[in-house]
Amino acid sequence: MIEISGLRKYAVANGKGIRLEADIKFVDVYAAYPADTLYLEIRQDYGAMFSDDTYDAFFLVGLHLAMYHKTPLKIRGNVSKKLFKNAQWYIQKILCDFSDLLAPVEVIVDGYATTKGNGLLIGTGISCGVDSLSTVQDRFVKETDPDYRINSLFIFNCGSHGKYDSPDTQIVFGSRVRRAIAVANELNLPLIVIDTNFHSFRREDNKVTLLFLSMYSCVLSLQNAVKRYYIPSGCSYQGIKDYGDRAHHNDLATACDSYLIPLIQTERTELIVDGCQRRRVDKIAAMTDWDVARKYLNVCLLQKGADSTNCGKCSKCLRTMLALEIMGKLDDFAAVFPVEEYRKESLMYKAHVLENADTETFYRELVDLAAEKNFAMPTKKTCYVLNGQVVVM
Ligand SMILES: [Zn+2]
Repeated sequence: MIEISGLRKYAVANGKGIRLEADIKFVDVYAAYPADTLYLEIRQDYGAMFSDDTYDAFFLVGLHLAMYHKTPLKIRGNVSKKLFKNAQWYIQKILCDFSDLLAPVEVIVDGYATTKGNGLLIGTGISCGVDSLSTVQDRFVKETDPDYRINSLFIFNCGSHGKYDSPDTQIVFGSRVRRAIAVANELNLPLIVIDTNFHSFRREDNKVTLLFLSMYSCVLSLQNAVKRYYIPSGCSYQGIKDYGDRAHHNDLATACDSYLIPLIQTERTELIVDGCQRRRVDKIAAMTDWDVARKYLNVCLLQKGADSTNCGKCSKCLRTMLALEIMGKLDDFAAVFPVEEYRKESLMYKAHVLENADTETFYRELVDLAAEKNFAMPTKKTCYVLNGQVVVM
C-alpha cells in the first residue's frame, strides 16, 4: 500500500518560500525512492494560493505511483469528490489503456471536501514552445472575455527540465524561468513559479505519465487562486484520430490527453485542453508576425546547462524551421534559430519528413503544408532509403 498523510503548509527555512507538503510511505512495496515526502514550493507572497484543506495536489501523483506499483492508495484526509469519482470511474481506465505498466487500484480516502478559496486566476504554462505561445496568443492577446482571458502565467519544475538529481536541471529550469519572466514582462502578466520534488519519484519507464500528472497536480495545488487553466495540447484533433493508437505508451498528448484532461478538475478548478482545434503548422503560421514569438520562441529538445537557445539540429527545431521555411518566414526568426546552418543541411531533413509522413502526424502536417503552399520538397526521384537511412542523390 502507498499511504499519503500529514498534509501541511509552512514557510521554508530560508524564509523565501512557502511549501505544501505531505508524507508518502510505501508499505510492503519495494520502492527505493530518494524522498519520503511530496512537496510543492512557491514564492512567499504567493503562499495563500496553495490550498491545504484537501489532498488534491498529491492525489494524482499518489494514484500514478500506486498504479505503477500495483498496490492500493490510502490518503489520510479529504479530496475533491469530483476528482475522486473521475479518477475511479474514468482516469484509471484511460491511463491503463495508455500504458501496460499501470494497473487499476483501490483508492481509500477519509472523505470528500471542497477547498475554501474562490480563485479568480485564469492561467496557462509559459514554456515558449509553439503550443504554449499559441495558447497565450489566442487566449490572451486575441481574447476579450474576462471569464476566459488569461490573466496569469505559470511555470512548473516537476520533470520537464531534467532529472530530479541532475545538477543541470535547476540550471535549465533557471534559464527557462528567466525567459518566461521576460515574456511575462512584455505581456504585463504575473508569472507564478512552482518548484516540486515530484520528479524524484520518476523512473525511466514511467516518466511520461508521471510528468503530465505532476503538471496537472501543480495546477490543483493552486485551487485557492486558479479557477481556469489552459493546457496547451501538442496534437490536432485530426492528428489524434489518425495517429492516436500508434502513440500508445509513448506520447500522452496524441494518445489521450484530449479526453483525459477534461476529467482532471475539482469543484473549484477547471483544466481546459487548448490547441487541438488547429494543426501545429497553423499555430506557427498564426504567430509568424507576432514580435513576442520572433523574440522568444523556443522549441529545442536538447538544452543542457544555461544555454537556452534553439540548437537547430533536434527534431523539434528542424520541424519548426521547415514549417517557417515553407511559409517563407524563416528569416523573420533568425534571432532564435541558426537559419544559415539549417539551409545547408535541410535537404536531408526534408527527405526524412517525406519518408515518415505516414507514421507521424507532425511529418504529415509538413508534407500537407508544402503541398498547400506549392513548396518544392525532395521527391522519390532525388532520394532513396538505404539501410534505414534516407540518402539524397
Ligand atoms: Zn533543438
